[in-house]
Amino acid sequence: MDCLFCRIIAREIPASVVYEDDRVLAFNDINPQAPTHVLVVPKRHIASLAELAAEDDAIVGEMVRRAAAIAESRGIAAGGYRTVFNTNRDAGQTVFHIHLHLLGGRAMHWPPG
Ligand code: 5GP
Ligand code: ZN
Repeated sequence: MDCLFCRIIAREIPASVVYEDDRVLAFNDINPQAPTHVLVVPKRHIASLAELAAEDDAIVGEMVRRAAAIAESRGIAAGGYRTVFNTNRDAGQTVFHIHLHLLGGRAMHWPPG
């Protein structure tokens, strides 16, 4: 499968890994948009939120809780952070392997651009 994040999970492409278990990998974004910019991905390929099935509820919950734990470990949880799933063209999704952006360490603005 020609998927960038599957190749990172397979260690065919290097990444700065911040967390790993049997189901989830988290690594630093190559083009960070904040002092903390981590991508949390399932090891099992899911293309986007649009592809989610009921059986994926547990893995999505794990991704969200992992992002919260990483924010806590980085000391940015109390100050606040943003978690984002970009889905399809208008949201700017560029990698079609579902990923949760964890952004923090600076003030975020709303509405987003
Ligand atoms: P999207 O725009 O699909 O929501 O987010 C994709 C993210 O993946 C972008 O923030 C981009 O910087 C990041 N990215 C793209 N290629 C690589 C890569 O090879 N390594 C890492 N660590 N991040 C990547
Ligand atoms: Zn993939």
